[in-house]
Amino acid sequence: MATPLSAAKFIEKLRAEGVKVQEHGDWRNHNRNHKGPWGPVNGVMIHHTVTSGTDSSVKLCYDGHSALPGPLCHGVIAKDGVVHLVGYGRANHAGLGDDDVLRAVIDERDLPADNEANTDGNRHFYGFECINLGDGKDPWPAAQLEAIEKVSAAICRAHGWTERSVIGHLEWQPGKVDPRGFTMASMRDRIGKRLKSKPGSGSSTTYTVGKGDTLWSIAASKLGDGNRYKEIAKLNGLRDADTIVPGQELKLPRK
Ligand SMILES: [Zn+2]
Repeated sequence: MATPLSAAKFIEKLRAEGVKVQEHGDWRNHNRNHKGPWGPVNGVMIHHTVTSGTDSSVKLCYDGHSALPGPLCHGVIAKDGVVHLVGYGRANHAGLGDDDVLRAVIDERDLPADNEANTDGNRHFYGFECINLGDGKDPWPAAQLEAIEKVSAAICRAHGWTERSVIGHLEWQPGKVDPRGFTMASMRDRIGKRLKSKPGSGSSTTYTVGKGDTLWSIAASKLGDGNRYKEIAKLNGLRDADTIVPGQELKLPRK
């Protein structure tokens, strides 16, 4: 099954995997489909931005620049693990890569060396840009690596792919070095393990109430929307939304 997911399905699958998503602008309809085909899709490609700062990196990936118009990917993965959705459809992230690599991804076997740039990657890959300077020194926080693992697993699950459908830009296009700071082999290993469990497992789904917390403040900080306090109350069988005390453990719904 290689028909691209709809934007609605895409975000639904990410959320089901426990990914924290933030939507930007008209991301669902922001794409380069007028410039070429989108699909069949065959895999997920991971990049680093060579930038720092979430807001400016997200803006750059949404807008692109004069030489390379946006969107520059589908999601920007920030250091705190939040995935910022900036586009959907054909995006300028993969460029030309090696047809032998594409064939290996489709067959889900070991990747050959990428020594040709003869195939349109923007057509065939979901793309995620991770905020990192790519200098080999800028750290990759655990939350960010976990988000890479989750977005990849979410898409693999949706398409019935294995972790072998997830590659780095450096494995696609000769001369590319991204992502730098962890190996794609180690990331595929994590994704493979995650795919053996149920969607959304292993994510932090409990919260210990602190001093001064209200259900509303917890919903606002943990779910990104204070109005979702009702879901927390319901999930924990609370009759009165205000009866929480410091030290109390609460289950949290998925974001
Ligand atoms: Zn890249």
